[in-house]
Amino acid sequence: MTPSTPQKAADQDGSVIIVGAGIVGIACAHYLSESGLRVTVIDRGTIAGACSHANCGYICPSHVLPLTEPGVIGVALRSLLNPRAPFRVKPRISPALWNWMFQFARRCNRRQMLTAGKALRAILDTSIAEYRRLIPEQSLNCEWKENGLLYVLQTEQGMKHFAETDRLLTDHFGVSAQRIDGTSLPSFDPALKAGLAGAFHYPGDASVRPDRLNAEWAARLRERGVQFIEHCELLGISKSGGRITELRTSQGDLTAGEIVFAMGAWSARWSEELECRVPIQPGKGYSITMPRPEPCPRYPILFPEHKVGVSPFENGYRLGSMMEFSGYDSTIPAHRIQQLRDSAKPYLVAPVDGPAEETWYGWRPMTWDSLPIIGRVPKLTNAFLAAGHNMLGLTLAPATGRIIAEMITGQPALLDVTPYSPARF
Ligand SMILES: Cc1cc2nc3c(=O)[nH]c(=O)nc-3n(C[C@H](O)[C@H](O)[C@H](O)COP(=O)(O)OP(=O)(O)OC[C@H]3O[C@@H](n4cnc5c(N)ncnc54)[C@H](O)[C@@H]3O)c2cc1C
Repeated sequence: MTPSTPQKAADQDGSVIIVGAGIVGIACAHYLSESGLRVTVIDRGTIAGACSHANCGYICPSHVLPLTEPGVIGVALRSLLNPRAPFRVKPRISPALWNWMFQFARRCNRRQMLTAGKALRAILDTSIAEYRRLIPEQSLNCEWKENGLLYVLQTEQGMKHFAETDRLLTDHFGVSAQRIDGTSLPSFDPALKAGLAGAFHYPGDASVRPDRLNAEWAARLRERGVQFIEHCELLGISKSGGRITELRTSQGDLTAGEIVFAMGAWSARWSEELECRVPIQPGKGYSITMPRPEPCPRYPILFPEHKVGVSPFENGYRLGSMMEFSGYDSTIPAHRIQQLRDSAKPYLVAPVDGPAEETWYGWRPMTWDSLPIIGRVPKLTNAFLAAGHNMLGLTLAPATGRIIAEMITGQPALLDVTPYSPARF
C-alpha cells in the first residue's frame, strides 16, 4: 500500500493499517501478517522511536501487582510538593488528569489490586511464552537473556516490607523468588556493594535490549512484506455506517479493511474521533545509557527503595526510573538524570557517573486500572485499540498482537480478553 492510493476493505482484500510503530504496533503487525493479512504500519515519527526505544528491557511476569496498591495515592499527594519525588504528579489544571487520578485512587485497595493482578497474570504468562517461541523462531538477535530479575534492598526494613510483597506474589499468583541474604549478595552479583540488606531473585523473568529487538523484529516483518511508513502522522478519521472509511494522514489518505490504533500515550487524544473513552495519561520516565562499567551487573536489577532499575547490556548499561504525571512534557531535566545516578550509587561497586551515551524520556501509556486496552472499538466495527500498556508494554506486546490478530481473523481466543476490553470504561 502506498499513501494516497486507497485500498479495498480487509473483508475484501485482507488489508490492515496499524497506526503506531511502537513495540505494540510491531507485535500486532507480526501476528496479523502471520495470519496472512496485508499489513501497513504508519508512524508520525520513526519505528519505535518513542516509549519503546530506551526502556529498561525487562520481560517481567513478576510485575503482576498493578500500580494501584493501597497507599500509593498518599505517595502521589505528598509528591505534589516535592519535584524530586520518583513518583510525581505535577500540579496543573487538567480535568482529564484529575478524573484519571480520582478513578485511580478508587482502585487503590487490596481487593481491586488482586483482581487487576489476576487479569495481568494471564496476559503476562501468555506473553513470555510467546517471546520464548518467537525469539528463536524469528532469529531475533536482541540480547534475550533468561537471568531473572533481582530486587535488591538496602535496609532491613526494606527487606521486611518487600518480603510481604513476595509472600503476596507467591500466595496469590504463584510467582516465587529465591531470597538472598546480604552477606551472600556480593558473590551472587559482584557488581553489588557489600553491606546491603539482601535481595529477592525472580528466576522466571527475562530481558532484552529494546532498541535491538525493535530493529530486528521490524526488519523480519519487512522481509515478510509488511510496509512501514515513517513520518506519516494520522491527522483525522472519516467514518460512515459505523465504520472507518478513510484515514487522513500527513502523507495523504489511506484506507484498509481494518484499522488498529496502537498509539501508546497519544491514544487518549483520539477518544472523541473513536467515540470511545480512552482514559490514558502519559506517565513519564527517564533513562540514561552508559558504557559498560567494571564490574557490570550480571542481572537486571531493581532497587525498590530508590525506585530505579539497572539493565546490563552487552555493550553498555542503563539506569531507568521515575513516574511523572506532567502531561505531554518532552523535556529531560538534568536533575532527573542526576537523580538516576544518585539513586544507583548506594548499590553499585562501579562509579555511576560515566559519560552518557544517551539520555531519554518515554511516556508510558497509563490507564487508571493498570490494565491494557485491547479490543474492538465499541461503536466502530473495523477499529481496534491496542494501547494503555502502562509500565509493561514491552512485556505484553506479543500477547497483545496475538489477541488483536485472533479478533480480526475470527480465530478462537487464547485467553479471556474481557478484562482488557475498551468497552469497560
Ligand atoms: C523508563 C521506562 C522504563 C520502562 N521499562 C520497561 C520494561 O522494562 N519492561 C516493559 O515491559 N515496559 C517498560 N516500560 C514501558 C514500555 O516502554 C511501554 O509500555 C511501551 O513502550 C508502550 O509501547 P507502545 O507501542 O504502546 O507505545 P509507543 O512505543 O510510545 O508507540 C506509540 C507510537 O505511536 C505513534 N503515534 C502517536 N500518535 C500518532 C499519530 N497521530 N500518527 C501516527 N503515529 C502516531 C508514536 O510516534 C509512537 O511511535 C518502560 C517505560 C519507561 C518510560
